[in-house]
Parts: sequence; C-alpha cells; structure tokens
Amino acid sequence: SDLSSKRRQPDLSRHLSAEARARLPNPIKSIWKVAQVKPGTINMGNGDPHHTLYPIGEMNLVVPSIHEQDPVQAWRIGTGEQQTVSSYRDEPCALSLKTAMAYSAGAGLKHVRDALAELNDRIHAPPKHTVTLSLGNADALTKCFRLLGDPGDSFLCEEFTFSAMTNAALPLGINWVPIRMDKDGLIPSDMELILANWDEDSRGKRPHVLYTIPCSQNPTGSTLSLERRRQIYQIARDWDVIILEDDPYFFLQYDLDIRQTTIERYGFFRAMADVLPRSFLSMDYDGRVMRLDSFSKIIAPGMRLGWVTCNEFLAEKLDMLTDSSSQHPHGFGQAFVSELLGSRGWGTDGFMKWVASLCREYERRRNLFMDVFERKVAGSGLASAETPQSGMFVWIKINLDLHPRYKELEHTKLLVGPVSNTAELMDELFRKLLECGLVMMPASTFAIVDRSGCVQSESHIADRVNYFRATFVGTDKTIEDGLAIFGRGLEEFFCY
Ligand code: PMP
Ligand code: PLP
Repeated sequence: SDLSSKRRQPDLSRHLSAEARARLPNPIKSIWKVAQVKPGTINMGNGDPHHTLYPIGEMNLVVPSIHEQDPVQAWRIGTGEQQTVSSYRDEPCALSLKTAMAYSAGAGLKHVRDALAELNDRIHAPPKHTVTLSLGNADALTKCFRLLGDPGDSFLCEEFTFSAMTNAALPLGINWVPIRMDKDGLIPSDMELILANWDEDSRGKRPHVLYTIPCSQNPTGSTLSLERRRQIYQIARDWDVIILEDDPYFFLQYDLDIRQTTIERYGFFRAMADVLPRSFLSMDYDGRVMRLDSFSKIIAPGMRLGWVTCNEFLAEKLDMLTDSSSQHPHGFGQAFVSELLGSRGWGTDGFMKWVASLCREYERRRNLFMDVFERKVAGSGLASAETPQSGMFVWIKINLDLHPRYKELEHTKLLVGPVSNTAELMDELFRKLLECGLVMMPASTFAIVDRSGCVQSESHIADRVNYFRATFVGTDKTIEDGLAIFGRGLEEFFCY
C-alpha cells in the first residue's frame, strides 16, 4: 500500500454510464446511514418491522465437520462427522438474526463485508479496495454493465464467452468486441491491436471495458498465465480500460503444489493463498479492476451470494444502484456466511481446508474425464482436448476436416461470411448426440459475432465453432457413460 499511495489513481469518472451519472442516492438510505453512525440514536424514521416481531428465533444449518482429514470425501461418502452452524435472534453469535434480517445498506452488512475483505486481503492483498456484496456474479455483472455501459459503447470480451451474461448487455446497447483466443486464453497482442487500430469516427468510442473470465474461462476452460495477466493489465493501463474480472472458478484450481509443511506451520489458508493464481485485482494499483467473486461454485449456486471488490469510487456508484434496486442480499445467507467463517463455524482456515479438499475431488473427476476421453474418444483422432487447470470445463475440439462432407470455399480476403460448412456440420453433430441421449454445449452458443465487421472480419468465427463445452463435475458414471456415447456418436457421424 506504500506504492499505492505514491501512485496517483486515475480519474475513473469518464467510465460511468449516463444512467450511473444520473442516479440519485436513495434518500431514505442516506438518512438511515447517518442514523447508524451514532450509537443510541433513536430512529423513528424507517418502516422497519420490529425485530421482536420477526417470526424467526434461530437458524441451524448442518454442515460437514471441518475436523475430518479430507472433509469433502467424508461428506460425500457419508461417513463424516457433522457440525451445526447456528444463528440466533437474541443470543450471542457472530451476526445476530436481529441484525441480519433487518433492512441494511445495499452493500451488505459490515460484519460480512469485513470478513470477506479480510479473506481478500490474505489472498490478493489488493491495494486500497472496497468490498460490497452481490447476489452472485450474474447479479454483479449485470449491474456493472449498467454502471459502465451507454448505448453505442463497445466492450471487449473473449471471442467465446459466457453468452448468458454478455447477452444481458445487448439490450443496453453495448456492442461486444471479441478478442482472439488460443489454448491459453485471450491473446494480449490481439487486445492491443484492436485498441490501437480503433477508428472512433467509424466505430464510436474506443472500448473502455474488458469483460474477462481469467480462470476456467467459460466455455473454453483456459486459465490465463501470470505473464498474460501482466500484459493485459498493462494494456488496460495504456488505453484506460476497466477490467471486469468475473472469477467464479478462482478457488477450483488443480495440480496445485500445496506444501504440507506450510499447512503444518501456518495453516490451510496461507498454504492455499500461496499457490492460487495471481488475480488482476492483486496488481491493480490504478483501481481499474472490478473483481467479482461468488459462493456459487464452492458452497452452492442457491446461495445467491457473492462479493465485488473494487475502487471506492466505483463501489459507491454500484452501491447506489443496489440501494435503489435489489437492496442488500438476503439475511439468511449473510448470517450463515458469518457463522461459517467465524470461530464457531469452520473459520477462515477451515473454509480453505474445505476448498482444498473440494479441489482434490474435482481434480480427481477431471483426471477421470481426461482418462476416459483418451480411451473412448481421442483414439479415433476425431476429437481432442487440453487438460484444464481449473474450474469445470473441457473444451473439446472436433476435427471436422476429417469429415467426408467437410467443405472449404476458396479463401479470399474479401469474404466476410463463413468460408466452410463447419457450423452446419456441428449443428448436425449436436442433434445426432442429442438423439443418442447426450447434451454437450456447442461452441456456437458462446461465439461472439462481431457486428461492426471491421478489424475482426478475417477472424471467421463461424469457421472455428468446431468445439463442444463439456463438464467433468458429474459422477463417475456420468463421465463414463457420457463419453462412451460421445465416442460412438462421433465415429458414426464421421463414417456417414
Ligand atoms: N415499496 C414500498 C411502497 C415500500 O414501502 C417498500 C419498503 N419500505 C418497498 C417497496 C421495498 O420493499 P422490499 O423490502 O420488499 O424490497
Ligand atoms: N460468470 C461465469 C463465467 C459463470 O460461469 C457463472 C455461472 O455459471 C456465473 C458468472 C454466474 O455465477 P453466479 O451463480 O455467482 O451468479
């Protein structure tokens, strides 16, 4: 933080959308916040149901005991001890239900924000950032799009990306500009090229936001190397770009070199924090990163709870949006997280022990998937896949050029549309697999089609949709049976 105080933070106000600029603070929340400052202040101002009338006295959630040697295995097999995480309305606990279930600031309760800020500090050590709660990364992302995007704005993203979210920006009038990828994720030099060649006269404002999924990129499963992250951050500085770091798979990393001696000496938290990837947030001296974390993939998607870490200026604007829309996240989740991370629950060290154990189990499933893939699919030479380092996805390449009906048109630079029948054949294959009882997500679902037709027109993404996204999170049987169908289906399809 010494460095951060020396470096002047850039003015980020130009990044705000007209909506964010026009937004007024929620006036009632503003007065409410003032009332919170001085303890003992009598608040007769708010329509807050009285806590003695909440029909909830306590909340008990049964969770795996964190004292098991390998808590995920013990829990999965059903042999493990359990522990109960309790919150009370009136009795002492980490966060009373009296507080958790009341109205509060949109950013969430201080107790929870502080706990997550501490988690962040020990993992990313971000210079000068604020933590605010979300209802998961989908909520956080869609709010960030509104915060930063005006009709006609262009945002950068990976050329295959999580379309469920990027589609949410389209009605806001935001254009997506795809950056080329290889097996290691988005290619920094292509990002630079797009920004450097951007013609504001014909294409409008140069992109000022990058949406990226650095770990287990959805759908390609790639994880950005530290080298690429550094390059991307530097390009973002050079061109004054905000980085939306959507990182729900961050905690699910494989082949980690976790030191037993570090665990013994300093505990699980330190041992994991030492080996988890460096985030964009961790290098963010400018305050241009908005990092989105979620409990969805490490606890459960139904948690609907996540946290956004960003510069105080952007956090304040984001909180204004939340204060005037969804308001603070549900009290149940905030109470549960407080107890779970607190001294009567798993604690932060126990939380990391759970995460480490979860990584081992998903790593085992990934290894099984790759083994079965090797045995039942790859042998034919009709498909191939890289082993993912994190998350849940395998990006399977279909070697369509081996198909008897695969056609390529004459290459000419002027051609803007597809130059092969890749998309048609993939559609056929998708339907064939469906008939055989298998669903894999076709790459076309995730392909960002560049509508401006300029720099990217040679990228011909429709000719590069010969991939499926598959996940290895299912049971061993799902993996064995699914890939058996896949292998057979592929052979039949190619011998057409
Ligand atoms: N509409 C009106 C008229 C209200 O008075 C309130 C709460 N004060 C709300 C909406 C917000 O309600 P909720 O807590 O269900 O979001
Ligand atoms: N972002 C990415 C890249 C995802 O893969 C997902 C979940 O599938 C989400 C966001 C949504 O996460 P959440 O459940 O936290 O809203």
